[in-house]
Amino acid sequence: MPLDAVRVGRGKVAPPGAARVQPNLGEYERVRRDFTWDSARGWLAGLPDERGLNIAHEAVDRHAEGPRAGKVAVVCRDRQGRISELTYGQLRSSTSRFANLLRDLGLAPGESVFSLLGRVPELYVTALGTLKHTSVFAPLFPGLGPEPIRQRLLLGDARVLVTTPELYKREVAPIRDRVPGLAHVLLVGNRTAAGDTIDLHAALARADETFEIPPTDPRTPALLHFTSGATGRPKGALHVHEAVVAHHATAAYALDLHESDVFWCTADPGWVTGTSYGIIAPLTHGATLVVDAADFDVHGWYELLQEQRVNVFYTTPTALRMLMRYGVDRARAYDLSALRFIASVGEPLNAEVVLWGQEAFGRPVHDTWWQTETGAIMISNFASMDVRPGSMGRPVPGVKVALLERGEDGRALVIDGEVHEIRSPEAVGEIALRQGWPSMFRSYVGDAEVGVGPAGRSPGGAGTTQRYDACFADGWYLTGDVARRDNDGYYWFLGRTDDVIKSAGQLIGPFEVESVLMSHPAVAEACVIGKPDRVAGEIVKAFVTLRPGCEPSDDLRLDILAFGRRALGALAPKEMAFEAQLPRTRSGKVLRRLLKARELGQPDGDLFIPQPRG
Ligand code: ATP
Ligand code: MG
Repeated sequence: MPLDAVRVGRGKVAPPGAARVQPNLGEYERVRRDFTWDSARGWLAGLPDERGLNIAHEAVDRHAEGPRAGKVAVVCRDRQGRISELTYGQLRSSTSRFANLLRDLGLAPGESVFSLLGRVPELYVTALGTLKHTSVFAPLFPGLGPEPIRQRLLLGDARVLVTTPELYKREVAPIRDRVPGLAHVLLVGNRTAAGDTIDLHAALARADETFEIPPTDPRTPALLHFTSGATGRPKGALHVHEAVVAHHATAAYALDLHESDVFWCTADPGWVTGTSYGIIAPLTHGATLVVDAADFDVHGWYELLQEQRVNVFYTTPTALRMLMRYGVDRARAYDLSALRFIASVGEPLNAEVVLWGQEAFGRPVHDTWWQTETGAIMISNFASMDVRPGSMGRPVPGVKVALLERGEDGRALVIDGEVHEIRSPEAVGEIALRQGWPSMFRSYVGDAEVGVGPAGRSPGGAGTTQRYDACFADGWYLTGDVARRDNDGYYWFLGRTDDVIKSAGQLIGPFEVESVLMSHPAVAEACVIGKPDRVAGEIVKAFVTLRPGCEPSDDLRLDILAFGRRALGALAPKEMAFEAQLPRTRSGKVLRRLLKARELGQPDGDLFIPQPRG
C-alpha cells in the first residue's frame, strides 16, 4: 500500500484519561490565510513602554510579574534521578542576578556568552540571564572535545564561558591560551578548578536580584547556534530577539503547546531545537518545562513521561526508534495517559515510527521540519490534521514554501528577474522559504569579516557576506533539502541536495529507499548513498544495521536486497553492506558523507567533530 494512502487520525484512539484539549490551530486553510507575523507579535507582551522585544522578558519576567510567579517553570531531573524545580519567580531573580553579574564583569551588550554545560538548572539561568543583558547566548554541546570547542569559541568571539570544573579541566584548560578573547570563565560547582576562573554560585549570591532589561531592538543579536555538521564544517548561525515571535507561534501551532501543558523536549540546548523549544517556547507560553540531565534510557524516559505527566513530547526519530526496539508492551507498561501530542525533528521520520507511535501511545508522531538557520519549525504535521506517515506535513502559517530549481552555477534559476518556482501542486525541487519570517538567521559568524564581536556585529543582517548571501536568491532562502509536494500540499522529504542520487537518468531520494529497507523485519537502520558507476552514473548502495538477534549473512543480504527490489523496483539498492553501527554526528544524525567518502576510498575529510570517547 502506498504510504500516502495511510492516514493516521487525530488521536482517534485517544489513550484513556487523556484530557480533551482544543488544538490551537483549528482550520488550517483559514488560519494560514489570515495569519500575519505582526498579529503573532501581538501575542507577546513586548518590553514595557514600547522599549522593544526581549526574549527573556517574554519567557520569564512577564510571567513572574503576574499570577504565574509561583508556577513551576522548569523541572530538572539530575543524573541521579533527583528532581528540582524553579518557579517563574525564582527564575526571574536568578536570571536577573546572572545579568547583573555580566554587567559587573564589564560585558558589553552584543558580546557573547558561551555555555558548555550538561542540562543543569544553571544552563537555563545562563541562557535567559544572557538574553536579559542583551548579550549573545551561544550554547555548546557538552560532548565536544577541546579542538571543536576552540573553533567555536573563536568563531563566536567568546567573552564569557560558563562550564563545570570537570569540563574546564578536561576540555577548556588545554586550549584556553589559544582563545585570547575569552575574558571570564565561570564554573558551576564548588570546587574551583584553576586560579583564573570564577565560582558562579558565589558570584551570583553577591549579585543584585533585580535587573531592568535594557531597551531591546527586535533586531538585536540574541542566539548563536552551530549546525550539526552533517554536510561539512559546522556553521554558526546568528539569530535576533525577534525570533521569539516564531518560537512562540510555531510552538502554539506545530507543537500544539498550551499554557497548562507539561512539555518535554529531549534535545540538548547545544542544538537549536534544545534552545528554541527546549528553553524559550515553553516558557513564553507560561507552560512547565521538563529537563532531563541523563542520556537516553528506556526506563528513565518512560518513567519521566509518567511521573511528570508530560502532555507534549518533542524528540527525534533516532530516540523513537530506540524506544521502538523495546516494543509496544514496554510503552504500555507505563501510565502515559497525560501524553497528548508527540512530535519529532532532525532527521527523516519513517512511516514505521509514526504508526508505531499510534500503536504504543494511541498517538501518531508528528514530523516537523526545520533547520538551525530557520530558527523555528517551518513545515509540520498539525494536531488538527490527519498525519500522513512519512510526510513532513505542511508549511506553518506565515511561512511560504516553494520548490525551486537550481541552474548550472548552483544558484536558483532566475528567469527574467524571477526565481523559477515549480508551481504545480505536485512537484519535486529544493525547499525554499520566502524571506521575512522572524527567526530567519541573520548571518553565519566568521563568514569573512563578520563576527559577533563588537566590531563585526551585524544586527538585521547588514554587511553579511558570501556564504550567507549564497543561501539566498531573489527573496528566497535556499535550504539545501529536496522534497516532493503531493496534490494536497503535503511535503515529503527526499534528501539533501548533495545526497540525492542520480541513477540511470532517475532522481532517487535516499530517504524513500531507507524507509523501505527499515520496514524489513531484520533491519534496524539504513543509510543509502550514490556510488559512482560507469554505466548508470550512480548506483544505490545501502548500509544497514540489524535488529537485536539478527546476524549478518549472505542469505540475509540477498533477502534484504530482494525485499528492496520488490518494493522499489528501479530505485532499489544494487549493493548492500552490514554495519555494526552507522557513523553519526554528535547530535545523532547519520553522517552520510562519511560513508560515501569511505566507499570512494577518500579520506574521512574534515570531520571536525571527533568520534565519541570510550
Ligand atoms: P550542517 O548544516 O552542518 O550540515 P545539519 O543541516 O544537519 O548540519 P541542522 O540545522 O541541525 O544541521 O539540521 C537541519 C537539517 O536536518 C535539515 O536541513 C534536514 O536535512 C534535516 N532535517 C531536519 N528535520 C528533518 C525532518 N523532519 N525530516 C528530514 N530531515 C530533517
Ligand atoms: Mg544544514
